Amino acid sequence: NLSLGVVGLANVGKSTFFQAITKSTLGNPANYPFATIEAEKSFVVVESEKLNHYQKLFQSIKKVPTSLTVYDIAGLTRNASTGQGLGNKFLSDIRMVDGVFHVVRGFRNDDITHIEHSVDPVRDITIVTDELILKDLDYIETAKESARKTLKKPFADKAAVEFELELLERLSDTLYCGTKASSVEWLDTEIDVINQLNLLTAKPTVYLLNVTVPDYVSGTNEFLDKVKEWIEENCPQDKLMLFSAEYETRLNELESADLQAYKAENGNMPSAFPGIVDSIRDALRLISFYTCGPKEAHQWTVQDGSTAPEAAGAIHTDFKKSFISAQVYKWEDLKEEAAPLDEASLKSRGKQLRVGKTYFVEDGDVMVVKTGR
Ligand code: GDP
Repeated sequence: NLSLGVVGLANVGKSTFFQAITKSTLGNPANYPFATIEAEKSFVVVESEKLNHYQKLFQSIKKVPTSLTVYDIAGLTRNASTGQGLGNKFLSDIRMVDGVFHVVRGFRNDDITHIEHSVDPVRDITIVTDELILKDLDYIETAKESARKTLKKPFADKAAVEFELELLERLSDTLYCGTKASSVEWLDTEIDVINQLNLLTAKPTVYLLNVTVPDYVSGTNEFLDKVKEWIEENCPQDKLMLFSAEYETRLNELESADLQAYKAENGNMPSAFPGIVDSIRDALRLISFYTCGPKEAHQWTVQDGSTAPEAAGAIHTDFKKSFISAQVYKWEDLKEEAAPLDEASLKSRGKQLRVGKTYFVEDGDVMVVKTGR
C-alpha cells in the first residue's frame, strides 16, 4: 500500500487537513505550534466512479475500494535539518513515504499563531524546501563516503561505483543550487541509483494552499499567483491545488439538512478531496484495475506500466509467478453497458480480450486472472 505524508510548517492546517481527508479523529489540531509530535497514520478511501459502475454491472454484493495510507507528520521549522525543535523526527518520518502533500497557509487570521509571525506562503514553502534540501545533502555526503570506501575494496565493481559517485556529485550540485532532485530529468540508469537514496526532494509532491471558505468557493486567493510562479520556477512537475481545511471540516461535521444549507450558501462547491487524491495518484503514476464477481467488485492499485502478471501479483503474491493469461474488459467497452452485464454479447462483439504475460494493464481494466494452480 502506497503511503503519503502531510508536511508543512507548524500551524498551517496540516492536522485539520489530515483529519478531514481521512475522516478520522486522529491527529491533533490545536491552535499552538507543535501540537502534532508523532506521525499519525490513517487511510483515505479512493472514490471511483468506475468501481460504482462495475458494482452495478456485475451485481456484486459489496465493493472494495482502494485506499492510500496517509501520515500526519510532525511540523517542522527553520533549521529542522540541524536538529532544532522536532526537526529530525520529522525528517526521518517523511523518508518512508512515497509522496508528499505540502500544506501551505494561505488564510489570514490573527487568532491563529503563525510560527513565522506573518502569512507568506512563498516564504513558508521556501523554508520547508530548503530544510528538505539540506537533509538530502547530508544523505548524499554519507552516500559518497560509503561509495569511496567501497571503491577501495578489492572486488568492487569499479565502473558501477564510479558512476554512482559521479551522479552523487551532480546531485549535490543540483541541490546546492536550491533545485529539488525531482525537478531534474534523470536517465533511467540514474533514477535506479537515486531511488535507493530515498531523497526527500525526490518525492512526488502536491502543494495544497489552505484558504478561507470564500476564497475556495471563488477559486481565488491573494497569494495564489505568487505560489504558482514559485512552483513554475522551481518544480513545474508538481501540482498546486486550492482547498479550505475549514470548509472540508464543515462538510464532514454537518448532517443532511444543515449540510445542504451550508453547501447552498457556498455555491454548492464540492469537496476538493477527490481531485486532490487524483492528483497525488497521477503524480505517483498509479492506475486501477478491477476484479468483479457476484460477491464483490474490487479495485486494485498498480503503477502505470505494470504487466498483467505484475497486476495479478497485487491480488496475491503467488499469482505473479503462476500467471498464465487473463481475460480483460476495457472501461471504454463497459461504460455504456447496462446491468445485468451480457457477457455473451460482449464476447460475440469481440470485447472480451484474452491477454498474455506481456500485456500492460490500463486504468479501468476488469480482469479475470488464470493461474497455473
Ligand atoms: P498543523 O500544526 O499544521 O497541524 O495545524 P492544525 O491543523 O493543528 O491547525 C492549526 C490551527 O489553525 C487550528 O486552530 C485550526 O483550527 C486552524 N485552522 C486550520 N485550517 C484552518 C482554516 O482553513 N481556516 C481557519 N480559519 N483556521 C484553520
